[in-house]
Amino acid sequence: MRKKKVIIIGGGASGLTAAVFAAEGGADVTVLEHTASIGKKLLSTGNGRCNYTNSELKDKSAIRRHYHSLSNIGFAEKVIENFGYEDTLSFFKRIGVEPKFRKYSYDDSSYVYPASDQASSVLRALKQQADAHNVRFITSCNIYNVAHINTSPCTSLFVVDAENASYRSDALIVCTGGGAAPKTGSDGSGFNFPCAFGHTMWGFLPSLCPLKCPEHFFKDIKGVRHECNVKLFISSTGDSEHTEETRLAKHNESTADNFGFITDDKLEDTYESFGEVQFTDYGISGIPVFQISRYASIALKIGKAVRAELDLMPGMSEAELSDLLYERSLLLSDRTLEYFFNGLLNDKLSKLILSLASLKPFMGVYTLERKDTDKLSRLLKHFSVTVEDTAGFDSAQCTVGGIDAGEIDPDTMESEVISDLYFAGELIDIDGDCGGYNLQWAWSTGAIAGKNAADYHKKKAYPEIFENNVMKDEK
Ligand SMILES: Cc1cc2nc3c(=O)[nH]c(=O)nc-3n(C[C@H](O)[C@H](O)[C@H](O)COP(=O)(O)OP(=O)(O)OC[C@H]3O[C@@H](n4cnc5c(N)ncnc54)[C@H](O)[C@@H]3O)c2cc1C
Repeated sequence: MRKKKVIIIGGGASGLTAAVFAAEGGADVTVLEHTASIGKKLLSTGNGRCNYTNSELKDKSAIRRHYHSLSNIGFAEKVIENFGYEDTLSFFKRIGVEPKFRKYSYDDSSYVYPASDQASSVLRALKQQADAHNVRFITSCNIYNVAHINTSPCTSLFVVDAENASYRSDALIVCTGGGAAPKTGSDGSGFNFPCAFGHTMWGFLPSLCPLKCPEHFFKDIKGVRHECNVKLFISSTGDSEHTEETRLAKHNESTADNFGFITDDKLEDTYESFGEVQFTDYGISGIPVFQISRYASIALKIGKAVRAELDLMPGMSEAELSDLLYERSLLLSDRTLEYFFNGLLNDKLSKLILSLASLKPFMGVYTLERKDTDKLSRLLKHFSVTVEDTAGFDSAQCTVGGIDAGEIDPDTMESEVISDLYFAGELIDIDGDCGGYNLQWAWSTGAIAGKNAADYHKKKAYPEIFENNVMKDEK
């Protein structure tokens, strides 16, 4: 029997997984990658260490907490149930990658890395497994056209035209990623393929990224890292630039490229996250900021006003903090305000808080009154900044939006629009939190798509026609 031919577009995390599973399932697999090498983004994951899944996913109820969608979150649940945390650990163990479990103070779950602490070892393991099953990799392959032809009621022919060659297959898996970190190859060009096949696209906004704030003081606190609770506030602006008409105009603009319109019902009024914030010269960064950035991205896109409030002293209430500051004012009464926060708060933040409270550093600590400690406490507990933009795709780790998740079968990853067309990875409208959830998504969707694309017998509705039409000629 002729082997089923499967073409995979995109040699990233999901494409490599799909290649391994399709080849292990007996298919003749070719991966077409437009950059000069495969797995570039994978190499940069987890700061080069690759946080490839998270133990939180042992609990099914965690799926809705850590994955998000503009079109259909139920899809993520079904996919992760079909190929989840345990399947990922076993798969990687099978190809030689032993897990290392890391815990962080702000999270009860274990973040899973390869024991080698090298993302390159994950890429190598996938590549070697693919090589062992004779997967062909064609890099620097610039594809300009993809076509689907129904060769019978239940068989397909895909023709993929690239600059230097034309490729044919029985099944096609599109794994071209989102728009985050375009230098690694996922530049959004892959969205053209599902659009050409008539799929609906949602959003396409940066997520897991820093946020830009206009306040002039950021250059003075640049480089500071501080453990905070970060709260994002979303509200209507009343700004004339963002009237209902301009929003509708934006909608029409975006539907021109067939992107679904994002509405207010995708947003709550507040979002919260805890962890180490990094202050940059343009705004705020760090894991807790990344975790809420998708909501800022969506809100700004639809013309909402966004503000972030940082609790710089999350361990105590505002009243307790004011008491502590008042005690310090008695204890350190012989000092100047310049040293009032010494040993309690970072120097750069101390200077800024004093200035926001209109207190001069050369003044004596003894001059502080209860109303001053109340004011300092309020500033520290509600350090408020305006969010005017995200830092964009260049600094993002993920994408909000993608192919409408209602148009894909979660049991097979096959398109509901075109038969024998499959999707995997970040180009589907599901985005995960920081912590290994996005790579888990790439493995889950890649494995399911690869397994099913390789399966000759999946057309259960027409087994006889299928046998006659495809296999007879190829025997
Ligand atoms: C800096 C950084 C760190 C991250 N760290 C983590 C982490 O530790 N844990 C985690 O879970 N997630 C992490 N992520 C997110 C994770 O890397 C992605 O979600 C994941 O790689 C997506 O897999 P994918 O296969 O969908 O896309 P990608 O891995 O982006 O692969 C897509 C591939 O398709 C190719 N391609 C694109 N367009 C075309 C085209 N038109 N023709 C041919 N080929 C094309 C690209 O060149 C690329 O090779 C990180 C992301 C970044 C940017």
